[in-house]
Amino acid sequence: MKTLCPNCGAESQPWFTSKDYNRHVTNEVFHHYHCPECELIFISPVPENLGSYYPDTYHFIPESMDSLEKASEPDRYKIEIVQRFVKAGNLLEIGPSYGGFSYLAKKAGFCVDAIEMNAKCCEFLRDVVGVHAINSDDAVQALREAGPYDVIALWHVIEHLPNAWETLEATCARVKPGGYVVLASPNPDAFQFRVMGRYWLHVDAPRHVMLIPMKLLVTKMEQLGMKAEWMTTGDEGSLRCNVGGWEVSFINLSSHRYIKRILHRIGRLAARLFAPIERREGKGSAYTMVFKRVD
Ligand SMILES: [Zn+2]
Repeated sequence: MKTLCPNCGAESQPWFTSKDYNRHVTNEVFHHYHCPECELIFISPVPENLGSYYPDTYHFIPESMDSLEKASEPDRYKIEIVQRFVKAGNLLEIGPSYGGFSYLAKKAGFCVDAIEMNAKCCEFLRDVVGVHAINSDDAVQALREAGPYDVIALWHVIEHLPNAWETLEATCARVKPGGYVVLASPNPDAFQFRVMGRYWLHVDAPRHVMLIPMKLLVTKMEQLGMKAEWMTTGDEGSLRCNVGGWEVSFINLSSHRYIKRILHRIGRLAARLFAPIERREGKGSAYTMVFKRVD
């Protein structure tokens, strides 16, 4: 059955169906569509109670300041990217989870706010990370009362939002003139997606309601007064997504515990074998983009 693209309204064909292969929260079947006009990949219908597909174990919360320090280490490349453009100022992170990046941003001298839907994460952000955390699952509303900011960061968040465009609009409106939006998201043009299809880690149905091509995001952000300053599928985080992606996607091929173990090893081999292809710009599993407000 055809449906209309939630971005441009073009009639879109069903592309594939999937299940929650990553977390097995549900046994439901989800329908993924591909828009022939803007290339957006989207789930339709989007489940109404999306929050119920996030298990309690979804968010890891460190036990202490020491474990926060260790756990935030993989996020270090993010603050290095941000500081290539802005050294300090007011920074907002949308969807920080327990706040590895928020913590590093604070340590680097930024004044940090966070909008997070998980109440336990918010508590940790306030009490341990020490940033101003707004507990809300409505980022658009929360943004209206926040800022303005020199930087707003959304690390692997936008693909989870049924109102992604509205959130981007509200985000860009709260960035100071000359300020930046930094975001990362799965790349639907990834080589890995072509090979693994519905089993690809980043299909992550139904939590990833959209997969947005880089080209489309650039166009959308330009309409909001933002210019793409930098983009890549080869930053540290995206390269990590490549390796982890093969492992999990292969595991997703079977529900048998013993076979999963073998598939995990094959996934590791695939990661090595295909690394030269995935390292080509535009072919990696995720992208990071930096936009500057120029209007
Ligand atoms: Zn479209």
